[in-house]
Amino acid sequence: MRRTGRTIVTVMAVACLFVLVAGMASAKTIETDVVVVGAGGSGLAAALTAAQGGARVVVLEKMPSAGGTTSFSEGIFAAESSLEREKNVVITKDQMFTTIMEYSHWRANARLVRNVVDTSPETIEWLKEQGVEFKELLPNYPGGLPAWHIINGRGKAMVAALEKNAKEKGVVFLYNTSGKKLITDQKGSVRGIIAESKEGGTLEIRSKAVIIATGGFANNKEMVKEYSGFGDELVIVGNINKVGEGIKMAWEVGAAAEGADVLQLYRPGVPGESTTSHLNAAGRQPYLWVNQDGERFCDEALALQWPWAGNALANQRGRIMYCIFDENTKKYLMEKGIDLGVGVMVPVTTKLVNIDQDLARGVEKGYAFIGKSIEDLAKKIEVNPKNLQATIDEYNASCATYRDKLFAKDPKYLQTVKESRFYAIKLFPATLGTLGGIKINYKTEAVNKDNQSIPGLYATGNCAGGMYGDSYDLKIPGGTLGFAVNSGRIAGKNVLKYIGK
Ligand SMILES: Cc1cc2nc3c(=O)[nH]c(=O)nc-3n(C[C@H](O)[C@H](O)[C@H](O)COP(=O)(O)OP(=O)(O)OC[C@H]3O[C@@H](n4cnc5c(N)ncnc54)[C@H](O)[C@@H]3O)c2cc1C
Repeated sequence: MRRTGRTIVTVMAVACLFVLVAGMASAKTIETDVVVVGAGGSGLAAALTAAQGGARVVVLEKMPSAGGTTSFSEGIFAAESSLEREKNVVITKDQMFTTIMEYSHWRANARLVRNVVDTSPETIEWLKEQGVEFKELLPNYPGGLPAWHIINGRGKAMVAALEKNAKEKGVVFLYNTSGKKLITDQKGSVRGIIAESKEGGTLEIRSKAVIIATGGFANNKEMVKEYSGFGDELVIVGNINKVGEGIKMAWEVGAAAEGADVLQLYRPGVPGESTTSHLNAAGRQPYLWVNQDGERFCDEALALQWPWAGNALANQRGRIMYCIFDENTKKYLMEKGIDLGVGVMVPVTTKLVNIDQDLARGVEKGYAFIGKSIEDLAKKIEVNPKNLQATIDEYNASCATYRDKLFAKDPKYLQTVKESRFYAIKLFPATLGTLGGIKINYKTEAVNKDNQSIPGLYATGNCAGGMYGDSYDLKIPGGTLGFAVNSGRIAGKNVLKYIGK
């Protein structure tokens, strides 16, 4: 059989991996140039970039396979990309930079933002070279910047391409292996990491540099409570086993904290329901939302600018809201479809044909309620019936005059609540992850409280602060995946310079 060069490289990399792991069982010490901790979008981009520049790279991944939250993502931002040119879309780097900085009130790290934005078009080309395909450009919401480069096969396909190419470049992946503690020398430079492998016990990996790309701490309840104040009410979407080990390791060796309080607040959601559930999709429509006092608390069209919807809900008693609608609206959702899409997974106009069965499931679990009258519904959701009636009367008056005097909602979302039966879906704040932790500079080097870099330590993606002010920025679609992959590539390039490659 004739082997291609690529096949030979793959076979050699797999053979090396076996030799390495077999060696580990006895010596449990490995030497390499660079350790990347975490094999999501940022870690894979960093590892492959470093390997393409000639570095020996070991990737530690806590889970049995690569991907992390990146697998769930849909698209990535870029300004002045080739796809934008092809589609006649003009989004300049300056425009994107200014949008991010103004949104954050210039609390974001301007040099870091500039570097990430400027790297973004070449990252799209680099991803294409790795076999990642893009099919369309979308905004996050009607009228938004169409800078969201939608990945064919979503983040999962990008992960597969980067992982495959990294293996072909000789990157060694150790799965089921968690990075636990950084090794430093007498001068405080990072020289490796102690890791725990499910199969191989404790490993000591000596390296010239370590890149932390462990994706934040969304699954660490204590840290989430401490930094953002959210408790059990917060619905965690698309994050598994993210307990902040990478961030804590970096803090332990003197890295400063930045952005640990920023959550990627998502559309309010129903616990345990999938993104594509028709119960979630109905609850996220911009009709009538009330808090536990039976009062409206925001312009419901914030469902479009969902980090703001999360912020508004965070201020309500118990952080609980109900989306209320009547039989007419339910029919509308089934026959005409939803007015607001849920990402690209549940597009606008999707007909909620499963709504009855999903509502029945919701009733069983205590997240959906059906009333014969407003009073009946109010009793079921334990909201003062008079308050709810007054809110609905005022809301119906707004629908009749086509003007929302309270919150100036776009009148096209004003749907009356009149026809029995009446429905309520109970929703909670939700998050797609945490967006900070380790303070870095524009080279993605971890820095201490005096902004001095810690030699040999880098941080990328959801572990690193500096891209946001106090809230996730939806004005830039594909912003967090964009930060993950671009910061990963920036780290990969800078680490090469640091280790003299
Ligand atoms: C449903 C959903 C859809 C999304 N869609 C988009 C989108 O379209 N566009 C966008 O911009 N953003 C999107 N996001 C957010 C985006 O996916 C993330 O911000 C981004 O993928 C983060 O990448 P990362 O590499 O930092 O983290 P991850 O992809 O989570 O990777 C971190 C990896 O580190 C591993 N790890 C953790 N701790 C350790 C340890 N101690 N040792 C070793 N390994 C460890 C984890 O297991 C994981 O594999 C979405 C998020 C969700 C949940």
